[in-house]
Amino acid sequence: MEFETVIGLEVHTQLNTNTKIFCSCATSFGDSANANTCPVCLALPGALPVLNKEALQKAIYFGKAIKAKLNQVSIFNRKNYFYPDLPKAYQISQFDVAIVENGSLEIEGEFGKKTIGITRAHLEEDAGKNIHENDYSKVDLNRAGTPLLEIVSEPDIRSSDEAVAYLKKLHSIIRFLNISDANMQEGSFRCDVNISIRPKGEEKFYTRVEIKNLNSFKFIQKAIEYEKDRQIAAFKDGTYEKEVVQETRLFDTNKLITKAMRSKEQAAEYRYFADPDLLPVFASDEMLNVSIPELADEKIQRYMQEYSIKEDDAKVLVSSLEMAQFFEYLIDNKCNPKLATTWLSVELMGLLKGELNITNSPVSKEQLADLIKAIESAEISNKAAKDVLAYLFENKVEVSKAIETLGLKQVSDDGAINEIIVKVLEQNKDKVEEYKAGKDKLFGFFVGQVMKEGKGAFNPAKVNELLKAKL
Ligand code: ADP
Ligand code: MG
Ligand code: ZN
Repeated sequence: MEFETVIGLEVHTQLNTNTKIFCSCATSFGDSANANTCPVCLALPGALPVLNKEALQKAIYFGKAIKAKLNQVSIFNRKNYFYPDLPKAYQISQFDVAIVENGSLEIEGEFGKKTIGITRAHLEEDAGKNIHENDYSKVDLNRAGTPLLEIVSEPDIRSSDEAVAYLKKLHSIIRFLNISDANMQEGSFRCDVNISIRPKGEEKFYTRVEIKNLNSFKFIQKAIEYEKDRQIAAFKDGTYEKEVVQETRLFDTNKLITKAMRSKEQAAEYRYFADPDLLPVFASDEMLNVSIPELADEKIQRYMQEYSIKEDDAKVLVSSLEMAQFFEYLIDNKCNPKLATTWLSVELMGLLKGELNITNSPVSKEQLADLIKAIESAEISNKAAKDVLAYLFENKVEVSKAIETLGLKQVSDDGAINEIIVKVLEQNKDKVEEYKAGKDKLFGFFVGQVMKEGKGAFNPAKVNELLKAKL
């Protein structure tokens, strides 16, 4: 019997607002415990929440990017449960009426092209953090009240490859909108996977389990593969009813298996109700009609059209927001687009290894622009430019200084080149005769000799031109 995997993803992304969602405490990561707290996020009696407009605007940005329906009026609810890092004993979240509903995004991979529905995206507050040490536990509420956008997909995803493609697309959209740093290690982009299987051809959905808080694409892929196999094996064994129940599971990143954590709460258990401390959210027309930044897919099309860059190259250039910004800086500074593409995505990226990446590159965008311009003006050869780039990696100096220090300035001066040409032709009188008698192939030999004598510093185009004239 053949099976089909059914997956729906919930992504929590931390919005990069300056302050928390319902108070004016700073959002932070890594500050000393409880440094960024106030009566609102500490849940002191009588403290009242006020919505952060920036969080709402960023949620709207997202809704526009996925072509969703935006609700002018949305509601904040209380989701009741107790946990030490949730001092109010309820989380403020959106339930019946979320700000963003019914969007979609396109994914692409070996499976082809596919549209994945996005049921909703709603605003909510994050909880604090419990820290367990030896035989006691501590609570840090710095994160309490940090704005989250929870993005819930339709159960449209059919494999781990599709799941990863969906998440990468979502990540790209969020980064290009610049509404979150979406740093997976720091937990600003984390994913819960809902997964079930069903015999191929059946329409109805089977029991789903939820795997919580996955924060790397690799683990998401592995967790899905493991859980899919577990459910299929149970189906074949006849233990499906017993083994596959609606529950929350955790992924053990050492053993690469999922384990039951708790049975899944039903929505009714949270006793949702509209938070009486907060008015319904009203998004003004001005907030709803904003235009949003250019996304990666649009940039690919534009780079292809405006700069005649190949699709595959354009994809590399938009692989991150920082990469695209670097490239656009080069273009804005009048670098040739083809050279900019190669020198950024091949030469510079080739040197960025280990801890180094485009955000902490030792060679700045200003320097790469200078280097490219030195190539374009024939001040240095393409080959010499590679040495200059390597030198710039190790030494904090200007491009012109590096060229000078390395003695790589290309000679385009007619006098100096002609001097060597005369010398070379003098030394190879016999070959000059042969050439004149019709052995055209020898031209390359003369060029080679002149370039060699010039220690690679001669401008090859100039050498060709002057040599032709002399011969
Ligand atoms: P909850 O708060 O209970 O997690 P949500 O509605 O927020 O519920 O999220 C449910 C997620 O589970 C959605 O992404 C949805 O697409 C997915 N889902 C629902 N039914 C199934 C199923 N049978 N198999 C896989 N995923 C499912
Ligand atoms: Mg869930
Ligand atoms: Zn606060």
